[in-house]
Amino acid sequence: QAKMAGRSTLRFFNPGMQKAVDEHVAFEADLRSALAQQEFSLHYQPQLNARGQILGVEALLRWTQPRRGMVSPAEFIPAAEETGLILPLGRWVLHTACTRLAAWQKQPDLAPLTMAVNVSPRQFRDAGFVADVLRVLAVTGAPAAQLKLELTESLLVEDMAKTIATMEALRAHGVSFSLDDFGTGYSSLTYLKRMPLGQLKIDQGFVHDLLSDPNDAAIVRTIVALADSLGLEVIAEGVETEEQRHWLAQAGCQAYQGYLFSKPLPAQEVEQLMQSHISAKNAAGTGADGLL
Ligand code: C2E
Ligand code: MG
Ligand code: MG
Ligand code: MG
Repeated sequence: QAKMAGRSTLRFFNPGMQKAVDEHVAFEADLRSALAQQEFSLHYQPQLNARGQILGVEALLRWTQPRRGMVSPAEFIPAAEETGLILPLGRWVLHTACTRLAAWQKQPDLAPLTMAVNVSPRQFRDAGFVADVLRVLAVTGAPAAQLKLELTESLLVEDMAKTIATMEALRAHGVSFSLDDFGTGYSSLTYLKRMPLGQLKIDQGFVHDLLSDPNDAAIVRTIVALADSLGLEVIAEGVETEEQRHWLAQAGCQAYQGYLFSKPLPAQEVEQLMQSHISAKNAAGTGADGLL
């Protein structure tokens, strides 16, 4: 209905606006063909603990478009949600990430690592979601206990009972959950307590100005304390400097992710990086705590 109303008002648009609409339509068409054309790929960003040991990675979607080059997921995920294309795209992401996770089981150094995958609200709420995830795990042979799904706070506000039921169904198979961009949404503490979550992920917006903005510092301390009292792990995203990492570690944050250690990288590159980091750590023994 909204689309129809939008169309009937097109005659009031100026030429610039018409051009924007045309571009939007072209963008959607490109997005549709992108899956078939294999223009999507995943990059992976390591997550580390306070001792500098690698815990796992987060899979991040990349779209390399012939005409536009690399398009940011922040630009196309909303369009994919709107059009429903997020459903096949999300299945592709899960399948690709779980294929990697399964392959790591044959490499002793990489075998214990976790794989975090972003799940959009529409994908999570789809009636076939639980079955999709279980099928991907079965087909790829990836260990469910090492798969972590990153959800956003909007899922905590609407239809709590259904959200919890979906989470429980997957948790029964060993899948765990992290709440992404935490602090930017509207979760109430009651909801948080009822969710079968494993981790809170501190939004990078708070991490960015940690050292200069006392409000952000206070928010981060509060999130760490909240996670602690709810028995949840906590990870900070967007950690770019050693000073931020140090501050976070002092504040009791056990894990971090960010450009400080590595930006998201293609599979082969991240595997090489992690392999050499793990080998160096092993060679240095336990004396290497804090070594990056
Ligand atoms: P997110 O899940 O919160 O991912 C973190 C974003 O921060 C990523 O942006 C990552 O590249 C970026 N980042 C990591 N370290 C740093 C740092 O030290 N500094 C700064 N400034 N940024 C850092 P990216 O890859 O552009 O993804 C943006 C968002 O798109 C993601 O935010 C997530 O919400 C969404 N997204 C990405 N991949 C997928 C996917 O496969 N499915 C769904 N549904 N959403 C996805
Ligand atoms: Mg994420
Ligand atoms: Mg995030
Ligand atoms: Mg984000």
